[in-house]
Order: sequence, then C-alpha cells, then structure tokens
Amino acid sequence: MPDGKPAGVRCVHLDANNACELFGLPSRPRFCIELRPEPEMCGEDSTHALSYLANLEEITR
Ligand code: SF4
Repeated sequence: MPDGKPAGVRCVHLDANNACELFGLPSRPRFCIELRPEPEMCGEDSTHALSYLANLEEITR
C-alpha cells in the first residue's frame, strides 16, 4: 500500500487468518513494527480487538 492504508480499508497484507504476511520481514511498515498493543486494545478476545480497531479507524478517518 504505497500511499498508506486508508482508515476503514483492510490491509492487503492480512491473510485469511488475519495474520500479517509481512511479519518479520524488512518490508513491514515501521508503524506496524513499533506498535505495542496494550491490554486495553486487545481485550479478552478478537471481537473486542476488532471493535477497538474499528473505533480507532472511525475517529481517524
Ligand atoms: S501489521 Fe501492518 S502490514 Fe501487517 S497486516 Fe497489519 S497493517 Fe498490514
């Protein structure tokens, strides 16, 4: 995504299991490497995490 990932758009590097295809590779964006998830972000399950991310994307759209 040479122009960056717009809010609300699924990253092209997410695979079918919602794993990053660039994990561990030098081509992974710096922002993604430096992001340190906090318990507030992850919650107890993926439903919480995806809802949290959706809210972040909405308020930064
Ligand atoms: S970590 Fe970054 S590059 Fe990897 S899937 Fe998520 S947004 Fe895309």
